[in-house]
Amino acid sequence: MKQASCPVCASPAVHTFLQRKGVPVHQNLIMVDPESARQIARGDLTMAVCTDCGFIFNRTFDPSLLRYGAAYDNTQTCSPSFREYMDGLLREIVEGRGVRNCCVVEVGCGKGQFLIDLVARAGPGSMGVGFDPSYVGPDTALDGRVRFERRFYGADCADVPADAVVCRHVIEHVPEPLEMLGNVRRALRHAPDARVFFETPCVEWILRHQVWWDFFYEHCSLFTAHSLAVAFGRSGFRVERVRHVFGGQYLWLEARPDGQGGHVERDAAGDIPGLAQQFARAEEGLRDEWGRRIEALKVQGKVALWGAGAKGVTFANLVDPDRAHLDCVVDMNPNKQGNYLPGTGHPILPFWRLAERGVRTAILMNPNYRAENERLLREAGLDIALVAQGTS
Ligand SMILES: [Zn+2]
Repeated sequence: MKQASCPVCASPAVHTFLQRKGVPVHQNLIMVDPESARQIARGDLTMAVCTDCGFIFNRTFDPSLLRYGAAYDNTQTCSPSFREYMDGLLREIVEGRGVRNCCVVEVGCGKGQFLIDLVARAGPGSMGVGFDPSYVGPDTALDGRVRFERRFYGADCADVPADAVVCRHVIEHVPEPLEMLGNVRRALRHAPDARVFFETPCVEWILRHQVWWDFFYEHCSLFTAHSLAVAFGRSGFRVERVRHVFGGQYLWLEARPDGQGGHVERDAAGDIPGLAQQFARAEEGLRDEWGRRIEALKVQGKVALWGAGAKGVTFANLVDPDRAHLDCVVDMNPNKQGNYLPGTGHPILPFWRLAERGVRTAILMNPNYRAENERLLREAGLDIALVAQGTS
């Protein structure tokens, strides 16, 4: 079944611009052997753009295929530059927005580190509750000031007091974002002054940079700054600001639950539909170009990918599904090292094992980490070239 109207603004003006059949449904599941990695559940990607609000979504997404359980791990905090980025967010929430000595709820808290750091920073009078079905770890942290609940945060959570709600990298996994936002809004019906912070990828950045490996099954709902504001407005929030963060790759939205529900501005999609069409025309050529580039790099020695997150999984599945060209994938997350890439079964290793395998080049999945990765290699005395899209 193909979704016929926009899940954000309900417009029927939606157009498919990207189709991929049989892609792995998960990019961040821990796979302990190559066989199970290759046998991962698959689904179809049918990305459509709404020409009214600019929202982009997978119109053939099937949520029943997804398993956000304990084997799901999308931890990024193993990277020093990502930790630095998180510190900046914490500073902004606590010092910049005055979230102190209050009760913080995190929707989709993952392994809980961000919430623990936030509550610790927000002062001794702060408390936190993290909701996530994939949470693993102790039930409480910071002497009981933080507690974790292994379930989704929904309308039935109104009894959990919240002065601030944080939700990072969750809404893009939700096929009906308005339903999710409506549940958050209802949970906050007794807290009209609560501050709400959401972070999600910016699809405009993906389209402008033609990052074809940033379209994958887990991300069924991708926003522009405008379509994100429309979604919040229609869900009864007052949007205070939406800005780009993390080198432009993410959107950071601040809102309050005291809005009356927004109207939809027609024809406010800007140049997003045009960018989507340009992307569609370029995509196959960009993939083929990488295939040729890897062939050329292989002359100097083996080639690896750097980054076993969603970007690396998508790249490997499209460029090297049979493991004929890429030797392995590097990741800083120790939970992923020693395991295998979903869909292809490439081994996932720490960077210091590259030299012993004869790897001479690593393809960077996220240029934000270039300086950090170059430093790691230099300090370890490893002569491995790093390449990325648009660079030599
Ligand atoms: Zn729309």
